[in-house]
Amino acid sequence: MRHDTPLQPGAAIGILGGGQLGRMLAMAGAQLGFDIHVFDPEPNCPAARVCDRAWAAPWDDLGAVQAFAARCAAVTFEFENVPLAALNAAASAAPVRPGARSLELTQDRVTEKAFINGLGIPTAPWAAVDCLDTLKAAIETVGAPSILKTRRLGYDGKGQSRLKSPSDAEAAWDEIGGQPAILEGFAPFTRELSVVAARALDGTVLPFPLAENVHGGGILRESTGPAEANAAIRDQAIAIAEKIGAGLEHVGVFAVELFDMGEQGLWVNEIAPRVHNSGHWTMDACPASQFEQHMRAVAGWPLGDPAPHSRCTMTNLIGHDFDAWEDLIADPDVRLHLYGKRAVRDGRKMGHVNRLKKL
Ligand code: AMP
Repeated sequence: MRHDTPLQPGAAIGILGGGQLGRMLAMAGAQLGFDIHVFDPEPNCPAARVCDRAWAAPWDDLGAVQAFAARCAAVTFEFENVPLAALNAAASAAPVRPGARSLELTQDRVTEKAFINGLGIPTAPWAAVDCLDTLKAAIETVGAPSILKTRRLGYDGKGQSRLKSPSDAEAAWDEIGGQPAILEGFAPFTRELSVVAARALDGTVLPFPLAENVHGGGILRESTGPAEANAAIRDQAIAIAEKIGAGLEHVGVFAVELFDMGEQGLWVNEIAPRVHNSGHWTMDACPASQFEQHMRAVAGWPLGDPAPHSRCTMTNLIGHDFDAWEDLIADPDVRLHLYGKRAVRDGRKMGHVNRLKKL
């Protein structure tokens, strides 16, 4: 089959990763008539219980990844830390969307920042760090306050250390475990925004409106979309999404986390080459959610309509926030989304609620 032929309803789409994003992708894919296969090392993962077939094997079992992909008409992923070797193993058996380029460029914060700046898009000042001496040199150019982040595998504020002054260098280096890192100047932003966009197989990019995001303890707590924003900010966000989508040759949904720098416009914090927590508001506020858009793109289908009919605030249920579920199910203004996780743990995303308002 040609790789650009739209998939037929009933075709199998494989998802690498079976967390809550995989689960919501699986449900959106099922709504469009696809069979969904999920690959995750954890047999009891959230997506396993809503898909047609769950495949459980370690990421480094490349034969298992290949066998999984061979049963699928197309393969996608739900998180950016899928090992590149696993993605390549899948790609030997089925079209993988988005491709390895999106994963490779965003798995490492240094290559990611260089890619973004190379497109002419601003970020906080940064420098690569690989030892205490290069950290001290980086502080000279980037300044303090600043944030030291591991190049790889950091998420939800993990693998990060804040430096108030140059004398914090040793402590920060120890705190991140002396790993290859990036030092970023602290961005004195007025607020945090994100743009979630879909890019179709033919290169069409359709962004959702900006979301405004509130973090606590490094974890996203709340997102509201569409964010209040003037035309200049909205246009800059669209231009950023179009450039990044094209630069990655991305197929599917991706998210760009942004700092609103007031008069200086938008700076990019980071790219997620996948559906994103700050796009969950689209599930109840837009004709086509981020999950539907992604599955349409993976299938080579035209994208759906992303224009919201309502404003929506999404609130994550983190850890024991989950215990309020009985109140939440009784509240007619709440749309509840639970991820089927069997155990509550502090900091664990258990679900989210969407509350709609008139636009
Ligand atoms: P990250 O894991 O890079 O998305 O960082 C998590 C959160 O830390 C961001 O959402 C911001 O609130 C904050 N943060 C990260 N990098 C910076 C920066 N360079 N300047 C200011 N705040 C930052």
